[in-house]
Amino acid sequence: MYEKEIIAWFKKNQRDLPWRKTDTWGVLVSEFMLQQTPVNRVLPVYTEWMKRWPTPAALAKATPAQVITAWGRLGYPRRALRLHECAKVITQQYKGVIPDTEVELRALPGIGEYTAAAMIAFAFSGRSLVLDINIRRLFARIFDGVQSPKPSATKEEKFRYEVLIPKKDAHLWAAATMELGALVCTSQSPKCGICPVANECTWRSLDYPQSDQVKRTQTWHGTDRQCRGTIVQALRENDVLTKSQIDQLWDVPSQLEKALLTLLDDGLIEARGSSKFSLPRN
Ligand code: SF4
Repeated sequence: MYEKEIIAWFKKNQRDLPWRKTDTWGVLVSEFMLQQTPVNRVLPVYTEWMKRWPTPAALAKATPAQVITAWGRLGYPRRALRLHECAKVITQQYKGVIPDTEVELRALPGIGEYTAAAMIAFAFSGRSLVLDINIRRLFARIFDGVQSPKPSATKEEKFRYEVLIPKKDAHLWAAATMELGALVCTSQSPKCGICPVANECTWRSLDYPQSDQVKRTQTWHGTDRQCRGTIVQALRENDVLTKSQIDQLWDVPSQLEKALLTLLDDGLIEARGSSKFSLPRN
């Protein structure tokens, strides 16, 4: 349903993004980076990353410290370590060739249901149920007449959207619905005037009833995430820092201690001797 209109709109309006004209490795790197991070922040890091590590084998040879440093300020740097582990497994177990089934993909480090489905569609032009927040919001508005989808996809939602996937060019459908959600059917101020399915949209026909769900505002300032990010950034800029230098970075000692412990647990930093820290070197 609406397939022709949405795919025709996509062919005319899609953004020129580097991961749309690359190999399977380039798609995999982009999928790791784009989790919870907007396209404009990913683009410069992605470009540098692909120049430096154009294959899984190249990344597999890097040290964790190099990988975390190159990840820059994309946030959630555990993703960088998972991608590094993923590159090692692809190199060692698959001779550098990324597997093309959802089962094998999901067995790789850092690859869950969404990323495996996205790889099938975008790296292998295959058929899979790709449901990111942009697609879910678009479908919730067109079919259910609600402003926002539920926080996570239910079994029933997956079943209903599975049957919409066209037999031919399923990957184009995934890319097109994602792009329409990202560029036109945006969370705030959807551009219904240029929407190719405006006449079929239930939410629009009901005159845009507001959702009861109150959007959680994600604050950053003063959070544990900001504290962890501050420590990792300082260690990107310095080979080694003493504990007393790290203590200067944050003014809530209990939060700093917790951040240090969780960063050590996550393998994002390592202790050097009794009171020094660095990014992991091996
Ligand atoms: S008409 Fe508006 S709300 Fe409906 S799908 Fe298009 S952009 Fe979204």
